[in-house]
Amino acid sequence: MSEGLVTVSYIAATILFILTLGGLSNQETARRGNIFGIIGMTIAILATIFGPRVDGALSYILIVLMMGIGGAIGVTLARKVEMTQMPELVAILHSLVGLAAVLVGYVNFMDTTITFPTHVEKVIHEIEIYVGILIGAITFSGSIIAFGKLSGKIGGNPLLLPARHWLNLGLLLITIWLGSWFISAAEAGSAVAFIPLMLMTIIALAFGVHMVMAIGGADMPVVVSMLNSYSGWAASATGFMLSNDLLIVVGALVGSSGAILSYIMCRAMNRNFISVIAGGFGTTTGGGSSSDEEQGEVVAIETEEVAALLSDAKEVMIIPGYGMAVAQAQHTVNEITKVLRDKKVNVRFGIHPVAGRMPGHMNVLLAEAKVPYDIVFEMEEINEDFPDVDVSVIIGANDIVNPSALDDPNSPIAGMPVLECWKGNTTIVLKRGMATGYAGVQNPLFFKENTRMYFGDAKESLDAVLKALQS
Ligand code: NDP
Repeated sequence: MSEGLVTVSYIAATILFILTLGGLSNQETARRGNIFGIIGMTIAILATIFGPRVDGALSYILIVLMMGIGGAIGVTLARKVEMTQMPELVAILHSLVGLAAVLVGYVNFMDTTITFPTHVEKVIHEIEIYVGILIGAITFSGSIIAFGKLSGKIGGNPLLLPARHWLNLGLLLITIWLGSWFISAAEAGSAVAFIPLMLMTIIALAFGVHMVMAIGGADMPVVVSMLNSYSGWAASATGFMLSNDLLIVVGALVGSSGAILSYIMCRAMNRNFISVIAGGFGTTTGGGSSSDEEQGEVVAIETEEVAALLSDAKEVMIIPGYGMAVAQAQHTVNEITKVLRDKKVNVRFGIHPVAGRMPGHMNVLLAEAKVPYDIVFEMEEINEDFPDVDVSVIIGANDIVNPSALDDPNSPIAGMPVLECWKGNTTIVLKRGMATGYAGVQNPLFFKENTRMYFGDAKESLDAVLKALQS
């Protein structure tokens, strides 16, 4: 394949990736967006493999071998992973992008066959290597810690080192100084350049760990989207090092869309992006309603009463959360919705932007169960409507319906907008016990007068309600 044909293929792939992002922004077009992505990636891989840069039988053997190993691991993981483990899988995959950037950076630096027409280009290449390894190492270690936190292997509480902001500033200044050392040593063609490069890598790895460790449980959504963005910039940096235009563009697309998502998540949580990155949110104060102590009596409810409340209602709002994903209750939710709509009950879904464990988690589950899109609403679209709602059904959600976010300034989730279901007539909460949610805070909603607790696994409880509604 000639260089010209490769360029044309790369342009086609770039356009397809842009169409992919456009498609993924909307549930109705998401499937089409995915197909564009698959076609774009196939074109990109084929053009790269059969392009003029890959030469000799050994290269092809290596490519086939590596794709075979990587593909086999990918397929095995994708088949095995539960829907609830998706966020962890995404986090660990981000770490691989970071690792790739680090390895490509080192290999590029050691490659003595690369020649540069001008001195300036050589310096630019060295800067690319330095920055690429820096971003890659932060992404790598940060994503591993995010994986640990999302899978519960590392506790959700933020690790707050004394003077951590000064520590971060110090690390930044040392990194800049090491950068200038690296460039001047590399200029002189000295192997000493390895020393600043390795020191910087160690600092970047430590910084990635420190950055994510300092972020509290409730702010993890921002970290997930931020690491998504970093992995894009790491890929882009790899593209610069390899002089691969497609990788630069695709990395920039992922990087900027991840950055926009981080901004959206911050807005949804009413957080300042810089403050989240600086860490410290999500610290449990132990005071007020943010403590783990229960605050009064809860009123439990039985299946028959839930079914009766739902059939008698005119307006029902369903609020799904992480527990619906754990219980895999979305199909039963859809069945119940159908039965209620047949009874002329107006059923709507209220989706909080950080519900579940990854952006869009609930939308994916509801789409999988074929819940009609036109009854699924974002939080800001329906939050004003709760006073007119007869019954709100909270399915395995906790933090996203916690009133202490609004009225307890000491709460780790203080300031985060929540679905204000308690303003409706009756709230039914489905969960297994009185455990707290991801942020680890007790929820005063459960103790409100108009709240009824329907204890049990969400799937089993809803199956029972469906049966009662049908009989
Ligand atoms: P929460 O984690 O706050 O609450 C989930 C609740 O579901 C738990 O209290 C649990 O209670 C219940 N539950 C678990 N399993 C079941 C089951 N099988 N049946 C019934 N109930 C069950 O979830 P939310 O969706 O309300 O909030 C999301 C939280 O996750 C926020 O704090 C957000 O910041 C954080 N987060 C979000 C990310 C994102 O990108 N969306 C990423 C990372 C974190 P019990 O054990 O008593 O049943």
